Amino acid sequence: MLMNRKLGQQRLKAAEQVVAFCKKMVDDGLTHATGGNISVRVAGTEEFAISPSAVEYRLMTVEDVPIVDAEGVSVAPSRYGHTPSSELGMHLAAYRALPATQVVIHTHSPYATTLACMEKALPPIHYLVCSAGENVPCIPYYPFGSDELACAAAEALDERHRAVLLGHHGLVVCGDSVYEAYTMAADIEFCCRLYIQALASGNEPNVLKPDQVDEAIRTLRAYHKLEPSA
Ligand code: 13P
Ligand code: ZN
Repeated sequence: MLMNRKLGQQRLKAAEQVVAFCKKMVDDGLTHATGGNISVRVAGTEEFAISPSAVEYRLMTVEDVPIVDAEGVSVAPSRYGHTPSSELGMHLAAYRALPATQVVIHTHSPYATTLACMEKALPPIHYLVCSAGENVPCIPYYPFGSDELACAAAEALDERHRAVLLGHHGLVVCGDSVYEAYTMAADIEFCCRLYIQALASGNEPNVLKPDQVDEAIRTLRAYHKLEPSA
């Protein structure tokens, strides 16, 4: 009984974070309309709260959020019958690719999506790129919600690439907490903007050296551990 109450509390906490950060994502201009989606691991489990598909972020409530297991099977449905995000397969594939991941955020943020439309990776032109790793690769275009997209995104992810640009689509990041994942999505958007501005000036910016990249990866990982835990 006690176990069940604890699990219920953890599921609620994960669903609350999904709703809070979906609203923040749209308020901060990190996505457009109902694009993008967020999933949060139910602490200590292989269950995930994920944003419902095609629900207006400003109207989204905790009751709208479905919870699924690692196979995508519903363990607690949305009270209003909303289906999980169409990118559920991509989120689950990302958790499998990087098992320490607690949160996956997919955005359609304007500058990251611009780079994705150019099918260009983000090189380490600024130390904040290293919040995601040594660079942010870009995969080719696959239809949204497809198994091909889920597989290609997951294949691009590893410990040194915790974010990936989805060609002609958007950005996915994997974080150790909702705060880290959200900050990473915002930082990568900022760095994509810098890169596009530099390219627009007619220059290919210099990139950090490998030892500088390694140091930034290490120090940013430690820096984000100082934030409140999810
Ligand atoms: P959902 O509303 O189904 O989450 O889809 C949005 C999206 O970004 C698809 O890639
Ligand atoms: Zn999308």
